[in-house]
Amino acid sequence: MSKMEFSEDFDFENRIMDTSEIPEDTADGDNPLRPKSLDEYIGQDKAKENLKVFIEAAKIRGETLDHVLLYGPPGLGKTTLAGIIANEMGVSVRITSGPAIEKPGDLAALLTNLSDGDVLFIDEIHRLSRAVEEILYPSMEDFAIDIITGKGQMAASYHLPLPKFTLVGATTRAGQLTAPLRDRFGVVLRLELYTPEELAQIVIRSAGILGIKIEYDGAVEIASRSRGTPRIANRLLKRVRDFAQVMSDGIITADNARTALDKLEIDELGLDQNDRRMLKAIINFYNGGPVGLETLAAAIGEEAVTIEDVYEPYLLQIGFLSRTPRGRCITAKACEHLGCEFPKGTVNAVPTQLNLFNGDSNQS
Ligand code: ADP
Repeated sequence: MSKMEFSEDFDFENRIMDTSEIPEDTADGDNPLRPKSLDEYIGQDKAKENLKVFIEAAKIRGETLDHVLLYGPPGLGKTTLAGIIANEMGVSVRITSGPAIEKPGDLAALLTNLSDGDVLFIDEIHRLSRAVEEILYPSMEDFAIDIITGKGQMAASYHLPLPKFTLVGATTRAGQLTAPLRDRFGVVLRLELYTPEELAQIVIRSAGILGIKIEYDGAVEIASRSRGTPRIANRLLKRVRDFAQVMSDGIITADNARTALDKLEIDELGLDQNDRRMLKAIINFYNGGPVGLETLAAAIGEEAVTIEDVYEPYLLQIGFLSRTPRGRCITAKACEHLGCEFPKGTVNAVPTQLNLFNGDSNQS
C-alpha cells in the first residue's frame, strides 16, 4: 500500500462520525435535542451530582454560581450543560468561543452587556489570546475591568464595574490552559465518553422528540456504534431513519439499523473508514508504532489536532491505541479487530486514559 492511497476519495471534512457540530445537527440555529434541565441530561453522573450541589448551594445563598470549567472531547454535552446551568439558575446564557473574541475590547463589550447572574459560555477557551486573557482574569476575580483609552499624555484609565456573572469555559484540552486561567475556575468538571446504555437512552429520547419510531434493540445498535458521543448518536439516528423509511415501514429495528450502519461503513465498534485507515497506517508503515503524532498526521493527510481531538479519545478508550513517550502504538486488540497480524516488536503498552491535565496532549 502506498502513502498516496490516503488521499483517495476520502471526505475528511464531511465524515459522518466527526464529533464537531455541523449545520444538520441544529434546526434553524436551535437544537431541539438539547436537554434543558439536569434531570433530562443523561449520563455524566459524577459531574451532574456535583453540579446539582453547587447550583443548589448558590441558590440558597442567593449568589451567582462559581466559574465552571468543562473539559472533554467534542460532542459530549459541554454547550448543553452551560445552557442547563443557566436554566437551573434562572438566568440567561451568552454563547461565544475563544477564537471569536479577537481583541480585549470584544470581551469588554460582551461582559458589560451581561445582566447580573448571567452565564457567559466560552467554547474552546484554550484558544483565547493572551491579551484577552489578561482582561478576563480581573473580570473573573473582581467583576471589574480597567480600560485604558488614548496614548501618552491623553491616556486615561477607567475602572469599570461589571455585573456578577458565571463564566462557563469549555475545552477539549485542559492541559493547554494557562495555569492562572485554570486556577480561576472554582468548579472543574471532566466529561467522560458515554456508555452504550446511556447512549441508547439518549437515542430513545431523541427519537421521541423527532417523532421517530424505534425499538429498544435498534437504539442499542445505534448506541454501540456511536463511539461514546451523543452528537454522533443523534446524527446516526437521523441517517438510520432514512434507511428505515426506504427499506421498511419506518420503524428502526436492530436489523435495519445494522444494515444501515453497515452500508454507511460504520462497523460494530463505531469505527469508520478513516479510523481503520489510521490504524492500518500505523501497522503497515510504522510496524505497529511507536509513531509520532505529526508523522502520523502527515501520513494520513490529517491535522494533528483532529487526530488528538476526534479520532484518538475513543480509540484509546476501547484499547486500540496506546500512547507511549515515543508516540502512538497499535494494540493486539486493534489488530484482531482489523484482521491483521500484530506486528512483532510493537511496544504494547497498557493504553492510558486520556489525561488532559497531564499535558500529555503535547506528546508527539
Ligand atoms: P459539546 O459542546 O461538548 O461539543 P454539545 O453540548 O453541543 O457538545 O452536545 C452535542 C449534542 O449531543 C447536543 O445537541 C445534544 O442534543 C446531545 N447531548 C449531549 N449531551 C447529552 C446528554 N447528556 N443527554 C442527551 N443529549 C445530549
